[in-house]
Amino acid sequence: MKSYKITESEKPLVEINHETPIPVGKQVLVKTIACGVCHSDIHIHDGFFDGGDGNKIPSRLQDNLTMGHEVYGELVSVGEEVSNVEIGKKYVIYPWIGCGECDQCNNGMEHYCSPFTAQNLGVNVDGGYSDYVLVKDEKYLFDAGDTPDNLAGSYACRGLTAYSALKKTNQNNTSNKLAIIGAGGLGVLALKIAKSAFNIQPLVIDIDEQKLNLAKELGASAVFNATHTNVVEEVSEFSNGGVHAVIDFVGSEQTLELGNKLFGLNKGCKYILVGLFGGKYSLTLPMMTFGARTIEGSYVGSLAEMHELMELVRANKIEPVKVNERDLSEVNKTLADLKNGNIEGLVCLKP
Ligand SMILES: [Zn+2]
Ligand SMILES: [Zn+2]
Repeated sequence: MKSYKITESEKPLVEINHETPIPVGKQVLVKTIACGVCHSDIHIHDGFFDGGDGNKIPSRLQDNLTMGHEVYGELVSVGEEVSNVEIGKKYVIYPWIGCGECDQCNNGMEHYCSPFTAQNLGVNVDGGYSDYVLVKDEKYLFDAGDTPDNLAGSYACRGLTAYSALKKTNQNNTSNKLAIIGAGGLGVLALKIAKSAFNIQPLVIDIDEQKLNLAKELGASAVFNATHTNVVEEVSEFSNGGVHAVIDFVGSEQTLELGNKLFGLNKGCKYILVGLFGGKYSLTLPMMTFGARTIEGSYVGSLAEMHELMELVRANKIEPVKVNERDLSEVNKTLADLKNGNIEGLVCLKP
């Protein structure tokens, strides 16, 4: 089988031919049909997250990793203890796999398993920038109904991340009270999921006019360009005095600064931080208390949330978004394009 591996941080991934694994016990082997390219792949590739003030937080604990955590593929072989999945059928793989032994894993929160013990596909163990992916248990395979092949895998990270972040906002939000910052792949999936799962059409903020136009087309109640000097006033007017929740899919010093202003004087607001752009941010403490404000980090989603989301997907409740397709051999160019903001919406790689 052929895999694209990180041999050195920030250097192009290297094509490596190696033996295809044979699943044993509970393991299953999936032949990759498409693998989404997620923004976090850039950080995993770089080897660090920006911790602010020049601090680098490691994003990857091993070399020779095959990235790719949004995998959709065909089940081709199984270990002797596997019984509930069908060879020849296509599945989305839930990649946020834990050690299976710690408290988090035992409480249904294996996506919170420690980075030192987690077995996240494409992050800690080999993922989908490859012909085949070995998965440790059939319980991580999900039927995607008639979702297009190029989109299905993206529900395992960006779709799930958007779903979980939306669940963390006050779900009584009306469309003009929920702001999404960032109209990239995550932002556009969040728009579709917000509409179908929560009946909300959030307002969207970005700095790229083209991405804002796409967000408007995909159902944003309104779009705002963060480069406008009066963007806070514009949002304040549209939201009748400020929003109740912000989901920040960028997560930079600039977006935190802007996003926290969008609440106005409203109390009980929630800031859901998802994006990993990085940096540092300081808070005016009394305002946190007076405002009864919450800043909550949201990291991917649980296996239970994946079940909820995929049920909506299979019932065709979530309108599909268009995905750009590229050949797996274009992986290095694709990562560079994503890093430079040159990809509109979602992109996947096909071996
Ligand atoms: Zn991801
Ligand atoms: Zn664990």
